[in-house]
Amino acid sequence: MKLHTIDSGSQGNCHILTADNGDIFIIELGVQEKLIKQAIDFQISKVVAAYVSHVHKDHSKALPRFYEMGVRILNPYQNGVLKGEYGRYKAICFPLIHDVDCYGLYLEHPEMGNMVYISDSSYCPVDFSKQKLNHILIEANWQDGMVDYDSPNFKHKVTGHMSLQTCKDFVKHNASNELHNVVLIHWSESTIDLDHAVEEIKSVCDVDVNVVIAEPGLEIELKKDVL
Ligand SMILES: [Zn+2]
Repeated sequence: MKLHTIDSGSQGNCHILTADNGDIFIIELGVQEKLIKQAIDFQISKVVAAYVSHVHKDHSKALPRFYEMGVRILNPYQNGVLKGEYGRYKAICFPLIHDVDCYGLYLEHPEMGNMVYISDSSYCPVDFSKQKLNHILIEANWQDGMVDYDSPNFKHKVTGHMSLQTCKDFVKHNASNELHNVVLIHWSESTIDLDHAVEEIKSVCDVDVNVVIAEPGLEIELKKDVL
C-alpha cells in the first residue's frame, strides 16, 4: 500500500492510498481537483471512495467535483453515515473536537493493517490502544513557546487544532509493538518546530517506528508486517 501526500496544512489537505491492485482511497479532497487527478494518473474509475473530515475548504474544496464524477464519498458531517466498505478498505469514522462537525477515520486494509487519521481536533476522544495500530496520521499543529497566548489571533489559530504535547500523549498512549509509521500532518512552520516535533514523537515510540512529516510529495509504503 502506497501513501502519497499531495498537501497537508491550512492551505489544503489530500493524501492518496493506492493498493497493490490499484484501488485508490482518497483521504480529504482539500486541494484543486486537477492536482488530485494528476496524482492518480486520471484513474477516476480506480477510486473506491474519498473521505472528507469536515466542511472547511482546506479539506473539502474538490468534493463537489468528485461527487459529480460519481466517486463514493464518506462525509459523515453531511449525512451521518459513519462507516463503509470500499473494495478491500473498511472505514469507520469517529467524532473529533473542532469548531464545526468533524470526523476522524479508522481504516483497515489487508495490505497495510490498520491506521487512524486525525486532523483538525483539539484532542482525540477515542482510545485506540486495543486496536494495536500499525500507522498513525495525526495533526501536530502548534507547540508551547511558538504561539502568543495574548494575541487576539491565538484562539482563532489554535482552537480546534492539536498541540504537539497532545499529539505526543496520543501516540504514547496508543503506540504498540505493531506500530510502524507516525505521519505528522496539518502542521504550520510558524507554530511548530518540525525537527523538534519529530524528535518528541520518536521519544515515545520504539526505535524502529518511522516518524515523518507529511510534506507535499511524501511517498511511503504502508505495510501490515515489516520483516
Ligand atoms: Zn478545519
